[in-house]
Amino acid sequence: MSIIKKIIYAVLNLIFPRQCVLCGATGAYLCGACLREKKYGGDAVHKLIELLKYKFSAEIAEILGRILYERYAGFLARAGRDLKCAGQENNWAIAFVPIHKKRFLFRGFNHAEKISRTVADLSGVPISDCLIKIRNTHPQVGLKRSERLTNLIDAFALRPGAAVAKNIILIDDVRTTGATLAECVKVLKKAGAVKIYEMVLRCG
Ligand SMILES: [Zn+2]
Repeated sequence: MSIIKKIIYAVLNLIFPRQCVLCGATGAYLCGACLREKKYGGDAVHKLIELLKYKFSAEIAEILGRILYERYAGFLARAGRDLKCAGQENNWAIAFVPIHKKRFLFRGFNHAEKISRTVADLSGVPISDCLIKIRNTHPQVGLKRSERLTNLIDAFALRPGAAVAKNIILIDDVRTTGATLAECVKVLKKAGAVKIYEMVLRCG
């Protein structure tokens, strides 16, 4: 993130201090007490995702990553154990839905990547940036269902030279029509992935 963006965010945080999305306490987007009591159901996830859209905060993405990790902790632990067994079949990686480089420059980071990095750090399953977005498409929000399904065709590709694990956990923040994930799955399967498990924070 550029120094100017950092200064803008610091000022914005002074004017609009962080507030817990569940209890309203100031200081954090999800306060320690709410985090400890694990009261963060669909409502908290929904509010955090909405907040992430205009706050551009890596901190919110990290909280969402922790929530996603805890939701799938059992599955991720099994993947971690499987990884320790030798052999190509036991090869696991976490991949994420990429954004176009123009969008990356505007936002400063990719939400799905930040969420995925937290899941990778907590689970020990390695992260792979094997997917890239080669076409800067219209945002899916605001398009008709039929347009959403065609908007993303051939928008994603494998990063040149990237290796693809046999088992991939594919992460995105929100699943709407599933068109985005389906396009990513298509690229990963073509590149040799055998099993792909989608993990999203919210559907709809
Ligand atoms: Zn709270």
